[in-house]
Amino acid sequence: MISLTNVYKEYTEDQHVLENVSLDVKQGEFIYLIGPSGAGKSTLIKLLTCEERLTKGNLKIGNVDLIKLADHHIPEYRRQIGIVPQDIVLLSHLTVYKNLVYTLQAMEVDRKLIKGKALSALEKVGMLSFKNVFPTQLSIGQQQKVAIARAIVNNPKIILADEPTGNLDNKSAIDVMKIFYQLNQNGSTVLMATHNSTIVNTVRYRVLEMKHGKVVRDQMEGTYGLATDYRDMFVI
Ligand code: ADP
Repeated sequence: MISLTNVYKEYTEDQHVLENVSLDVKQGEFIYLIGPSGAGKSTLIKLLTCEERLTKGNLKIGNVDLIKLADHHIPEYRRQIGIVPQDIVLLSHLTVYKNLVYTLQAMEVDRKLIKGKALSALEKVGMLSFKNVFPTQLSIGQQQKVAIARAIVNNPKIILADEPTGNLDNKSAIDVMKIFYQLNQNGSTVLMATHNSTIVNTVRYRVLEMKHGKVVRDQMEGTYGLATDYRDMFVI
């Protein structure tokens, strides 16, 4: 489903932000992407969303070869993946429901299907009763749920999330994680960058640990562990 082979990424010459990353993700897997800040987690996700293009290597998602994907095909490609960024950017002048309608219209989804898809996505994240509320009237956790609804509004097979619980309190983080687990149970492949060790250690899935642009650990039903960088900080 997702296949990276010897992937390199440089933003500037001689600075390998990703170095020789190879990775295979099967349909339906749930993966936590962990590692210290600057390890390359966001960059890896950005390569998958085509926000950034790789410097060297091979990268395929499903049948799409991202090396060969022309820039003008990127919007069409993105419609097939759900992207949940850390910073929630909902349109504040539109209600929750209209935010989703706006996204579906931008995706050029058949008008007849828009209402059903928007309401179904809100139901999946438990936000249906908030459909006529404006984003500013919601808590951060509720806004994140709407952001997830927006990401899944067109039923993507792959969901990419960059620290989706980073700005949330514990209770909201758990609520949001339950949504991701449910989406995965229903067949979506989920790749999530996270710093939340409690979540990683509590609900065990595959763990990919990155450091200095490399995958240093790939463990099924893995734990967060004590990242080497923090270990260094605890030496007294
Ligand atoms: P993480 O998500 O693990 O914190 P990032 O992928 O954001 O890591 O960053 C990895 C490295 O790439 C860092 O050293 C960061 O400074 C650098 N970097 C990220 N984005 C850019 C950019 N647009 N231009 C130059 N360097 C960047």
